[in-house]
Amino acid sequence: MSVEISEKVSCLIIGSGPAGYTAAIYASRANLKPLLYQGIQPGGQLTITTDVENYPGFPDGIQGPELMTYFEKQAVRMGADVRFGIATAVDFSSQPYKVQIDEEKWIAADSIIISTGASAKWLGLPGEQRLNGHGVSACAVCDGFFFRGKEVAIVGAGDTAAEEALYLSKICSKVHMIVRRDEMRASKIMQDRVKQAPNIQIYWNHETDDVLGDQTVTGVRIFNNKTGEKTTLEVSAFFVAIGHEPNSGIFKNWLNMDETGYILTTPGTAKTNIEGVFAAGDVQDKVYRQAVTAAGSGCMAALEAERYLSEKGLH
Ligand code: NDP
Repeated sequence: MSVEISEKVSCLIIGSGPAGYTAAIYASRANLKPLLYQGIQPGGQLTITTDVENYPGFPDGIQGPELMTYFEKQAVRMGADVRFGIATAVDFSSQPYKVQIDEEKWIAADSIIISTGASAKWLGLPGEQRLNGHGVSACAVCDGFFFRGKEVAIVGAGDTAAEEALYLSKICSKVHMIVRRDEMRASKIMQDRVKQAPNIQIYWNHETDDVLGDQTVTGVRIFNNKTGEKTTLEVSAFFVAIGHEPNSGIFKNWLNMDETGYILTTPGTAKTNIEGVFAAGDVQDKVYRQAVTAAGSGCMAALEAERYLSEKGLH
């Protein structure tokens, strides 16, 4: 593919969660003068969470958005060129690799660090799509406030669903939690908290038929997947917390991935199947998915990029 290159850099980082910013900090300190494009959600998934109590170094916990502000500030202070923009296509056919930004310009880079993270999954119901942003949300922490004092529903049974149900239970009058099996996947401590919350009602073996309402959510129709019995819950909001998928679509013709789209890296490294292209954070990790593991893998990616550039005589 022949494209007009508007800029050439040594290290291009795509994505601005803990992995991307940590890579930027390390790459800057190695004098790679990294250019980082923030992507659709600057700061990544932690910007849509509240208390982060498991990121080391903050004994009293810290708010997710505040933590990501610190990541960004540190990357910029070290010299990273942080810009708003979305990677829309790539060409990894030859060195230097090329990345298209905002469907407009192309940037060439000797090394690439992919840290595009993962995004929320949806059920795929008609009402869910129609009422998205009008009572349907994939982020209780972002949108729960709009439904304070009201009854809401949430679907999912992992740690995210448990965490969000608890969050909602503190601001909403009642939380209806729809769980498709007769058990939850969430960690025991989170399950216990959910079960003990007086205003969370769990609907075991239930799935969602559709979300109801014209302009805004007025209810959710659910059914028991053992008996087929339907129930309509009169709620003002429907929160979807059924997991995430990796943001790896633009790389799929180039990089090896597993069946769910997670980029495969050589175990113990950030290396992809293309030399000089590294992946870090949730886009390549479906096991740990923690801010601290993402940050750690961002560090690995930057150190490996630096080594790669030195070995190739590109730095
Ligand atoms: P998970 O993949 O762990 O859980 C997804 C949940 O959604 C499962 O209970 C699943 O049900 C349910 N689900 C999936 N599809 C549907 C569907 N179509 N209809 C109904 N239910 C559905 O995702 P999470 O986002 O909860 O967690 C991701 C990872 O992040 C986990 O490793 C988790 O431990 C971690 N995490 C840790 C936190 C913490 O430590 N503070 C906070 C949040 C997440 P089923 O079980 O039947 O498959």
